[in-house]
Amino acid sequence: MNLYFPFFIVRGPSVSNDTVNDDPIGGNVSKYIVLPNGYSGQPKKGHLTFDACFESGNLGRVEQVSEFEYDLFIRPDTCNPRFRVWFNFTVENVKESQVRGMVAIYRVTLRVIFNIVNFSKTKSLYRDGMAPMVKSTSRPKWQRLPPKNVYYYRCPDHRKNYVMSFAFCFDREDDMYQFAYCYPYTYTRFQHYLDNLQKRNMDYFFREQLGQSVQQRQLDLLTITSPENLREGADKKVIFITGRVHPGETPSSFVCQGIIDFLVSQHPVARVLREHLVFKIAPMLNPDGVYLGNYRCSLMGFDLNRHWLDPSPWAHPTLHGVKQLIIKMYNDPKISLEFYIDIHAHSTMMNGFMYGNIFEDEERFQRQSIFPKLLCQNAEDFSYTSTSFNRDAVKAGTGRRFLGGLLDHTSYCYTLEVSFYSYIIGGTTSAVPYTEEAYMKLGRNVARTFLDYYRLNPLVEKITVPMPRLRKENPPPYKHPSLRGSTSNVPGSRGDKKSSMNHKDPSTPF
Ligand SMILES: [Zn+2]
Repeated sequence: MNLYFPFFIVRGPSVSNDTVNDDPIGGNVSKYIVLPNGYSGQPKKGHLTFDACFESGNLGRVEQVSEFEYDLFIRPDTCNPRFRVWFNFTVENVKESQVRGMVAIYRVTLRVIFNIVNFSKTKSLYRDGMAPMVKSTSRPKWQRLPPKNVYYYRCPDHRKNYVMSFAFCFDREDDMYQFAYCYPYTYTRFQHYLDNLQKRNMDYFFREQLGQSVQQRQLDLLTITSPENLREGADKKVIFITGRVHPGETPSSFVCQGIIDFLVSQHPVARVLREHLVFKIAPMLNPDGVYLGNYRCSLMGFDLNRHWLDPSPWAHPTLHGVKQLIIKMYNDPKISLEFYIDIHAHSTMMNGFMYGNIFEDEERFQRQSIFPKLLCQNAEDFSYTSTSFNRDAVKAGTGRRFLGGLLDHTSYCYTLEVSFYSYIIGGTTSAVPYTEEAYMKLGRNVARTFLDYYRLNPLVEKITVPMPRLRKENPPPYKHPSLRGSTSNVPGSRGDKKSSMNHKDPSTPF
């Protein structure tokens, strides 16, 4: 696959027996066959072939330590060598050998050790049991490797870098194996997902192209709301959600898909949300970075979540497009922009949690804590105690901080983080690894928490089976939101003094 960008050097098909190589890593390995030291013949079965020249692929270099051990180098983000975390590559041409014994024939699988030797981070969830993902031709569902086969340690052989080593048994000769840092979620998968949603011709789902990335990929903007809310002159309460500004943070896409799937569904809660709110969602802010297999940056090496103060239309076009739209909406008297949520994944923390802003106005600060407290009640994997509020200088260019300073006092801006690895359920200490489905479930729970926030529960059709509450923490007491504007147009809401915590939630369990 040609990644067609001049800064981005892609190696052609190649064969090497180099063992020491200090060259900077320019591109992904392409069908790279590792031959033993001193071997000069044709490649044979068992000479492992590595490849990362595919969408979201990342592996920059392979060095053989022995027949059964390989050092692997992550390719740094394009135009930014500081970030080396995401990896995603295939291995094939593996060998299964046989040992003849007196009585039986034992099939012996090829067991190798891979060392990922150039991570740019030191703290990692690998210390807490995280393991790389693997799938293969005959087992196409992603699985985590057993944590007992994974080691994370400071290695004297690699300039005291932290190295993650894992042992793996190749058990089927004809399989191609793929390894990744976390569940991949590519730009193409995202486009197919949106194409399929569009084909359903839902009158409350709209897709438009808000702009293009430097490499001409689409910046998609979705609007989910009842069509009546879009008519000329209608007042709109807008929830703005963005994802995947950091391309290696793939859980962001699963959470975002969970939100979208729920909001377009026929679930009674989703219907009420569509009637009362306008959801604007830009699920993939950095499509080039996603395509290229970067961890943090855009094609040109920018961490887009540090450029909200002054995005350039040519260097940060997707960010520029989203910011222009938000400012336009902010200046529209018919639009009340109530929430901005930017979805990320976290490489050292467990659970889902949020970052919010610090305000001088104590009441505003308190009101900001309401949404995460409600979400904590709805999602067993979301932690309010890990949620924090800050104004670090280093975060000044983030969407959450910039918009928190721009928007008025009734708007709330959050970063929603979710662990790359696991969550801990209340009352236990064991970590439950996230699955793709668990990430999507967090998205569904984010969406339905707006029902509680806006006290729309009475509007949902009564369903006979009440929903069991899953609580992992006892959330601290909270003040109920003082809603902006009148809620008197909401049938059933007038005079409702009860906290939404006390409502019997009629929605079905997730
Ligand atoms: Zn992030």
